[in-house]
Amino acid sequence: MPVIATFSAYPKLSEPLGLFGGTFDPIHFGHLRLAEEAIAHLGLAGVRWIPAGQPPHRNRPEVTAKQRLEMVLRSTAENARFSVDTSEVEAAAPSYTVNTLERLRMHLGAEQSLVLLVGADAFAGLSTWHRWRDIFSLAHVAISHRPGFPIEISSLPQALASEFSARQQTDVRLLKDAPAGAIVTFAMTQLAISATQIRQLLAQGLSARYLLPDSVLDYIQRHQLYRNRL
Ligand code: ATP
Repeated sequence: MPVIATFSAYPKLSEPLGLFGGTFDPIHFGHLRLAEEAIAHLGLAGVRWIPAGQPPHRNRPEVTAKQRLEMVLRSTAENARFSVDTSEVEAAAPSYTVNTLERLRMHLGAEQSLVLLVGADAFAGLSTWHRWRDIFSLAHVAISHRPGFPIEISSLPQALASEFSARQQTDVRLLKDAPAGAIVTFAMTQLAISATQIRQLLAQGLSARYLLPDSVLDYIQRHQLYRNRL
């Protein structure tokens, strides 16, 4: 059974720490490559995965939060640079990213550089997130390219476009120099994989193999998940 990171176990790091939230419903190779490539491109000490509990800005996921967490644990256990934060899954009430970042800050201290990893689609919706502007005082934001979601300032909501213009940095080495506040983009291997696509395939009785780890597929099959609902 993989070790689950707790807040008290967080070490102080000299490199920036990546934070990767999502519903992971289910986790797939698009997520895993994003985290793996972010470590290399952004010079991160590692990536802390933060599966959402009941996500505030989308419909309830189709499997329990504990099952989504279990799939994340299975997929990340072999990678020494990955750890999993269970706080949102275990929270009694829906937890917002900004609250999770505030808790992390309390434990890691004001100096630790934190980098919130988001795909281009998630970034485009950032200004709908609870207290979204406060996120920039708590972490940097690194946006990965995602097929079908070009990062175009002209298509962002105006308030978000302004933040993007004011904060964008092209030199990712600057992420080390401050604990929070910059926005960077990075090009990862483009994988047009989505959890929606995987749920649809499974609901139709079709193969989702090679889109996600076999260990996750085994878990899905054993627990008969995603069979009936798209
Ligand atoms: P769904 O299809 O259910 O919306 P998803 O595949 O987008 O799910 P999420 O758990 O919602 O997965 O995404 C978590 C994070 O991973 C988001 O920031 C999202 O932009 C990013 N992401 C997901 N899939 C990819 C991908 N194939 N390439 C790049 N980023 C991705």
